[in-house]
Amino acid sequence: MIQIEGLRKAYHSRGRTVVAVDGVDLEVREGEVYGVLGRSGAGKSTLLRCVNLLERPDAGTVTVDGVDLTALPERRLRQHRQRIGMIHQHFALLSSRTVAGNVAFPLEVMGVDRRERAQRVAELLDLVGLGDRARAYPAQLSGGQKQRVGIARALAGRPTVLLSDEATSALDPETTASILELLRDLNRRLGLTILLITHEMEVVKRICDSAAVLREGRIVESGRVRDLLTRP
Ligand code: ADP
Ligand code: ADP
Repeated sequence: MIQIEGLRKAYHSRGRTVVAVDGVDLEVREGEVYGVLGRSGAGKSTLLRCVNLLERPDAGTVTVDGVDLTALPERRLRQHRQRIGMIHQHFALLSSRTVAGNVAFPLEVMGVDRRERAQRVAELLDLVGLGDRARAYPAQLSGGQKQRVGIARALAGRPTVLLSDEATSALDPETTASILELLRDLNRRLGLTILLITHEMEVVKRICDSAAVLREGRIVESGRVRDLLTRP
């Protein structure tokens, strides 16, 4: 579902070069929950942002659903990016719009008409258990509810792949457990392939089928989680 080959990304600032991702190969199979684990600064976020080309790699290819995104012209890339959902540590909601308005936003960008939009928003909110909060504003929600809105919005374009950037790092343990459970449930029910990054082993243990450990931009270990956990 996702094939990353020879991925490299460096940043240049004030005469210094930081190689954030340094030759990464990675394969996420369809229907899998895949975790990339690493400390702060390891390159996780750069790697994830290269998967939907929010960050343009210096070298390597990123193939999602059989399409090499690095080879696409900008306009076609935008179309493909709509099919890759993303959720964020701090939710990234629009504070001036309601819950429904946040979920409707990507549908508006895609040009989905009003009636279909209203129906899709209602379905998406039901899917994440927020059917009764459509008219609330983000400031009126708990952290867990905000992330549910983020998830509903990420699913608006019916993506086959969901990218998760430390989605539970800002949440308490109980809320973390319920969000991970929701992601697992969506993975099973919709066949959604999930690629997540995290600095917490616990997240990997709870929901990932496979995982890789990233250190200084390189993968130092990878495999099925049950094998990784029993390895000496
Ligand atoms: P992680 O998500 O694992 O914390 P990042 O991908 O954010 O790692 O960062 C990897 C390395 O790249 C770090 O050394 C970081 O300082 C550097 N880096 C990330 N983004 C930028 C940027 N926009 N400009 C310069 N350096 C960056
Ligand atoms: P905002 O004031 O945040 O911009 P709107 O009232 O304009 O929100 O609604 C934005 C979108 O959400 C619209 O496309 C509308 O169809 C949908 N929507 C609004 N209220 C509901 C609701 N109660 N249930 C489902 N969808 C809704």
